[in-house]
Amino acid sequence: MRFDTKLVHAGQQADTVTGDVVPPIHVAVSYDRRAQQPPRYFYGRSENPGREALESCLASLEDARYATVFASGQAAGAAALSLLSPGQRIVCGDDVYGGTRALLDIAARYGIGVRHADLTEPAGLRALDAPELGMVWIETPTNPMLKVVDVGEVRRLTRDRGVVVVVDNTFASQVLQQPLRLGADISLYSTTKFVAGHSDVLGGALVYEDGDTRRRLLEHRTATGAVPGALDCFLVHRGLRTLSLRMARQVQSTDAVVELLRASSRVAAVHYPGLPEHPQYPVAKTQMAAPGAIVSFEYRGDPARVLDRVRLFASAVSLGGVRSLIECPALMTHRSVPASVRAALGITDSLIRVSVGIEDPRDLLEDLAAALA
Ligand code: PLP
Repeated sequence: MRFDTKLVHAGQQADTVTGDVVPPIHVAVSYDRRAQQPPRYFYGRSENPGREALESCLASLEDARYATVFASGQAAGAAALSLLSPGQRIVCGDDVYGGTRALLDIAARYGIGVRHADLTEPAGLRALDAPELGMVWIETPTNPMLKVVDVGEVRRLTRDRGVVVVVDNTFASQVLQQPLRLGADISLYSTTKFVAGHSDVLGGALVYEDGDTRRRLLEHRTATGAVPGALDCFLVHRGLRTLSLRMARQVQSTDAVVELLRASSRVAAVHYPGLPEHPQYPVAKTQMAAPGAIVSFEYRGDPARVLDRVRLFASAVSLGGVRSLIECPALMTHRSVPASVRAALGITDSLIRVSVGIEDPRDLLEDLAAALA
């Protein structure tokens, strides 16, 4: 099966009794062992058929052996960090989702050495020379500055040292970027975003090859209880079927939004990896099938003015849904990041981030143009 067919068919086998063309939602939390020979399902925190169906689909999209899903992207991240032991170090990109920084602050309290570095620059990549390095956490493209990290380069610099390379692939999705093929050990997703695509369910996933990693992640998930519910798994799996279609439309419309922003006298700078002047444009060109559906820009003025004036864009956090969203990172998604760190990263108070949805692009352009004016 090819990618788009897997989106619709993988983990979607018809029920052998009823022939349901959509697998049923299994809400039971325990299973009568006498009905199963041999017993395979025990308790909903450890096994659920719909959850496993979603996992088989997610694994197949990257031709990986395993996928493990979680209650949120953050829960997936916490599980990935559980692969580290006290005394080990993690190097993480400097421009990452605010919640990722918060998660690493917690890891530091458990004896993990945490360092943030600009993994797009040779000086930042030198952080990978650290002894006891156990994990590199790459977000690419980054949130909210849309920087692009060369995953293959990080892999080359950490090869044969037992370092786990994690790529948060939330912004690109499996359609635009395949981290395992680039050399990563784990692809991480907030499935809340593009994967589910409708802003109506929280979820997270890790996709990987290693059997021991699977054992440890399942142990962590079952013990901490960070499982997604049956209905949540169904919603993520249903959203997944249209991922390619949505992504194609969203990327196309983003191109038009970027042009509008570049032409506006109210916009001082546009951050988008599809622009030839983007510092990592050549990396984005080879690493991604397309530059994505998120763009950030520097507004000349008070961003609240734009956020209050849009009509179609929801002035809200999150991203990747069918409905377009607009937000100010300094006030919203990255408000927990210390102001000095934000300033160093270029996350100014007038930076605005847009997630382009599937509406008619002409309506989006009219809405944005009116709000910017
Ligand atoms: N990774 C990235 C890049 C994100 O943008 C987010 C949330 O915005 C997360 C992870 C966390 O995902 P969740 O909100 O599903 O826990």
